[in-house]
Amino acid sequence: MQILEQISDKAQLNNKLLKLGLSSWWDLALHIPLRYEDLTRVYPIAEARAGQQVMVEGEIISCEVIQRKNRQLIVKIADGDGFISLLFFHFFPNYSSQYKIGKRIRAFGEVKQDHFGNKTIIHPKIQTVNEEVKLSNTFTPIYPTTNGLNNQTIIQLVEDLFNANIIGETLPQNIIDRYKLLGLAQALLALHKLTPLQFKQKYQEKALARLKFDELLAQQLLMHKVYVKKHANPAPQLKTNNKYLIPLLAKLPFKLTKAQQKVLRETLQDMLLDKQMNRLLQGDVGSGKTIVATIAAVVAIENGFQACIMAPTEILAEQHYLKISSLCEEIGIKTGWLSGSQTKKQKQETYTAIAEGTIQLIVGTHAVFQKDVEFHNLGLAVIDEQHRFGVEQRLALINKNKQQLHPHQLMMSATPIPRSLAMSYYADLDVSVIDELPPGRTPISTLLINNNRRHEVIEFVRNKIDSGAQVYWVCPLIEESEKLELENALNTYQELANHLAPIKVGLIHGKLKAREKAQVMEEFSQNQLQLLVATTVIEVGVDVPNASIIVIEHSERMGLAQLHQLRGRVGRGNLQSECILLYEPGLSEVARQRLQVISSSTDGFEIARQDLLIRGPGELLGQRQSGLPALRFANLEEDLDILQQIKPLAREIAEKYPSHAKLLTDLWFHNKSIYTQS
Ligand code: ADP
Ligand code: MG
Repeated sequence: MQILEQISDKAQLNNKLLKLGLSSWWDLALHIPLRYEDLTRVYPIAEARAGQQVMVEGEIISCEVIQRKNRQLIVKIADGDGFISLLFFHFFPNYSSQYKIGKRIRAFGEVKQDHFGNKTIIHPKIQTVNEEVKLSNTFTPIYPTTNGLNNQTIIQLVEDLFNANIIGETLPQNIIDRYKLLGLAQALLALHKLTPLQFKQKYQEKALARLKFDELLAQQLLMHKVYVKKHANPAPQLKTNNKYLIPLLAKLPFKLTKAQQKVLRETLQDMLLDKQMNRLLQGDVGSGKTIVATIAAVVAIENGFQACIMAPTEILAEQHYLKISSLCEEIGIKTGWLSGSQTKKQKQETYTAIAEGTIQLIVGTHAVFQKDVEFHNLGLAVIDEQHRFGVEQRLALINKNKQQLHPHQLMMSATPIPRSLAMSYYADLDVSVIDELPPGRTPISTLLINNNRRHEVIEFVRNKIDSGAQVYWVCPLIEESEKLELENALNTYQELANHLAPIKVGLIHGKLKAREKAQVMEEFSQNQLQLLVATTVIEVGVDVPNASIIVIEHSERMGLAQLHQLRGRVGRGNLQSECILLYEPGLSEVARQRLQVISSSTDGFEIARQDLLIRGPGELLGQRQSGLPALRFANLEEDLDILQQIKPLAREIAEKYPSHAKLLTDLWFHNKSIYTQS
């Protein structure tokens, strides 16, 4: 890569350029103008309309200072057909020699017009007209600047850049032709030095489209590289022999949905191969991902390998453990449990059993990632709610085997990500989607209720419980203070226990020990407690089919994904389910939008799409989590059509044009942090 020093050897200048994020000629080339000013032609004053940015030219016919609130200089110019006032609030004492009557000047700026049709430009840019001054052929670019580095300097640097003729082409000609793209140099030139004719033909949009194309392509290439690398990892070939599978299926109280069968087929097909599976199983909350993972685990175990299932929270992991282990133990599979809250001795025993292979299926939290854990022969790793794990944690598991073989990986996520975002974020994975809920679910109705009607909500809850329902009551997340959060939950617990006696009310929060949490959850799922007050610890995956009401306090403080997840705790059985969102009046605009979305849709993908619109993709995943550098030109929502073209192309470029592929990724993502390099 050629560094900017080739163009500018001044250290001081370079420092300022660095402030703008410009450290190479490529950065400079991509430093495209914010907007343009049209100094290519002189506008007849009579034709200049209010609101237009134009350059006019004329002879000075008057020049005077008047005293309004402050002193103002008014210079009037005329071009034969009309006249216009130029208004200055700041001016030099020698203004009368600067603006001599009879002198010809050009003025550029936005035209204002009063009721009488008098035209004014406030603080125009002024140019004296003489023989040397020519009109420029191109629009004048206005660049993002920084202190001590003005627009003119950047214009000059860009000029040097184009004169140096160093902008090459990143794509083979046949690809440029096939996608009817502009050449890269041509596109960049147009963006920096746009001509009036090009502007008229919206050429700058075509030019920008070329940059978006390259940017998205580079991103896909990068992800493709990771995809290829991962898929080259040797892995055990796991083919079902029905030893455990048949008994397992016989024990299921339900039939798999079509969608579950489909994703299961896709998963098992991957596991047949001697290359590592990297599959993401996406499905809305309650779509039944757990059983798919369990079946995949059982197939690995039939082949004499171990499987592990990991969940991000202790509660969720424990729920999985209770459900999955009882199912598996019944058919003769040895299961084990690993969590951070176990005693050292318990853990040590489990480690030993894992290393010796006596435990076939291990369920746990991220404790499974710890460096002391060594598997005898891990064949499949399932990571539930994968977006909750950091990317590093997700990668840590890959290298857990004593042998050379890598475990197949099945990740699961209930955070639906819009297709556009998934194409970027999950480009290193194969994705299976469960797009249907098990039958017999009743839709959840969502009510937005002002918190000053809280007492009515409490009465409603009492009635529902009297007729057999169970209720979650979620207390707000208080980010600043865990202490406040707990206090608040305790108060709500007291309030509800008092009001609702003799109804049994329970409380679960993050400060409880894992065992205590499990105990409370157990009582709730046994219907020994009818109402469970909870901080947001119940957010993911908790499954109590008889719970049909969820009340969420301060719902205005929560994000859409979180609200959707919380709401998904109900509507799991066949009872009519309700989600009541309490809010404090005085909603912010964003909060209002969010509550609007959540109360009008239960479709996780639609909600995620709206979330993307409200927040933008960076925030949706969190930069750290997504591991992807932010896009500068392309926008995943707006440029979905480009992305769709690029998906298949990335593979072609990677395979047929490796040097172009390298150039693209180097140019666009050099020294950007990206998880895919680990
Ligand atoms: P999630 O995808 O959110 O993890 P779960 O796997 O926890 O969902 O499943 C939610 C509930 O649906 C569980 O109680 C599970 O037993 C049940 N379930 C899963 N698959 C089916 C099915 N095909 N028919 C009926 N119920 C099912
Ligand atoms: Mg789940």
